[in-house]
Amino acid sequence: MKLYPDFVIQIKGESHQDINLCYQCKKCTSGCPIAYTMDYTPAQIIHAIRLGLKELVLNSKTIWLCASCETCTTRCPQEIDLVKVMDVCKSLAICLRIKPKIKEVPIFYKLVLTNIRFLGRMYELGLIGALKLCTGNFMQDVNLGITMFKKGKLKLLPSFTFKGALTAMNIFNKAKKVK
Ligand code: SF4
Ligand code: SF4
Repeated sequence: MKLYPDFVIQIKGESHQDINLCYQCKKCTSGCPIAYTMDYTPAQIIHAIRLGLKELVLNSKTIWLCASCETCTTRCPQEIDLVKVMDVCKSLAICLRIKPKIKEVPIFYKLVLTNIRFLGRMYELGLIGALKLCTGNFMQDVNLGITMFKKGKLKLLPSFTFKGALTAMNIFNKAKKVK
């Protein structure tokens, strides 16, 4: 496998995290609630970055499966913010047009942002419908959805105010200018 010695410098520069401080204690991995679904554990991803294994990291499922729960960040004795590292890896993979290993995740992100941009807040039922249309996973978690709906956790219509929508739109416009 090809090594990219500058990869760690790039990730450090963009995430502002000193990855080289990692001493592989694996506290991040032992606390990660979804490590069992990942192809490489959070600690292995950090190690792979240090080794320059760019293709392995950017083609991993891990960077897309990370739920940004920040458990690893809280547990790391070296105060490495692994969420920022995962986010930078995802951005880099997108910039390099690397096909995401979990295709539903970037679709989900886009739909969430569109939802907030136009409504100013989340409209869960609309998001679920759009996600199912975009991914084709029509039957996945249907029973869970019905249970949530019955318990009033999913509203039929969005709760939406013009003021909230306008504020969100302004935030998005400002972010676009910063970019
Ligand atoms: S918890 Fe921090 S120091 Fe320990 S393995 Fe994870 S990133 Fe490295
Ligand atoms: S932020 Fe990501 S890697 Fe860290 S514990 Fe949560 S899911 Fe695991």
